Amino acid sequence: MATTHAVAGDQPSIPLTARDFKGKVDPDWCPGCGDFGVLNALQRSCAELGLKPHEILLVSGIGCSSNFPGYFNAYGMHTLHGRSLAFATGAKMANHELNVIVTGGDGDGYGIGGNHFTHTARRNVDLTYVVMNNQIYGLTTGQISPTSRPGMKTKSTPFGNVEGPVNPITSAIMNGATFVARAYSGDVRHMTSLMTQAIEHKGFALLDIFSPCVTFNLDNGHSFFKDRVKKLEDEEHNSSDWQAACEKAMEWGDSIYTGLFYQEKDSQSLGKREPVLDKEGPLAHRELGLTQELADQVIGRMM
Ligand code: SF4
Ligand code: MG
Repeated sequence: MATTHAVAGDQPSIPLTARDFKGKVDPDWCPGCGDFGVLNALQRSCAELGLKPHEILLVSGIGCSSNFPGYFNAYGMHTLHGRSLAFATGAKMANHELNVIVTGGDGDGYGIGGNHFTHTARRNVDLTYVVMNNQIYGLTTGQISPTSRPGMKTKSTPFGNVEGPVNPITSAIMNGATFVARAYSGDVRHMTSLMTQAIEHKGFALLDIFSPCVTFNLDNGHSFFKDRVKKLEDEEHNSSDWQAACEKAMEWGDSIYTGLFYQEKDSQSLGKREPVLDKEGPLAHRELGLTQELADQVIGRMM
């Protein structure tokens, strides 16, 4: 539901639509790439929440899906491979009034950034992490990723993948994430609803999205998911039961579940547990407590 925000002079502003979150650059993704649906859903979700571009920061690492901030009208940071959660944590701690949304892929997030994935979850940083999981490294033209199935043949595994995949859903739950969901990019309405819930959640929210790479992963395309994806909402799943959530998340056969697996509604995020951050508003809005000369020296050393 779109809302309006009061502005100076008590004039209500005009509600934004999904189109208002369209960036100045059009995506260069391959035609049919699942990431188009994810971009569409996030634009819809931000409009539904009544957010404004200046209230949102998108942070990404490296990969096809990590080009996301460039296609979205908001603040954006395109950072280092696997390091987006570390940058996002810093940004959120400096200004916890910002809605910080992290976007990236399975290789970036669960492989190269696996360490940060674990520790951001256990810290329960109030971030929304949207992972476009296509079970392959797409930008580097098709090598196995941490979520590729065993036996999968790619450029890096011509005789078949001999490794087992990571399960992002059970990993996130075990490490302390307080909102864990999965979506399929072919169902934009369901994905939008989960994104909205993830952004509203106060704590670390993972939204893992099956977002097919139609160019390099022909094993897990739209036809694979369309035949198998089922919604947890249709099964009376109890999202406060972590054991039931893990059992559902480990099903990978004729039924593969999407929806909200797990949520801990009353958890305290890192910003709430840190007294320095919680007392006097965002650090970014406070007096620095240094002379301008000293501040310039400190910033100069860091540049
Ligand atoms: Fe999408 Fe794959 Fe093309 Fe990358 S290579 S833009 S992930 S379809
Ligand atoms: Mg990938």
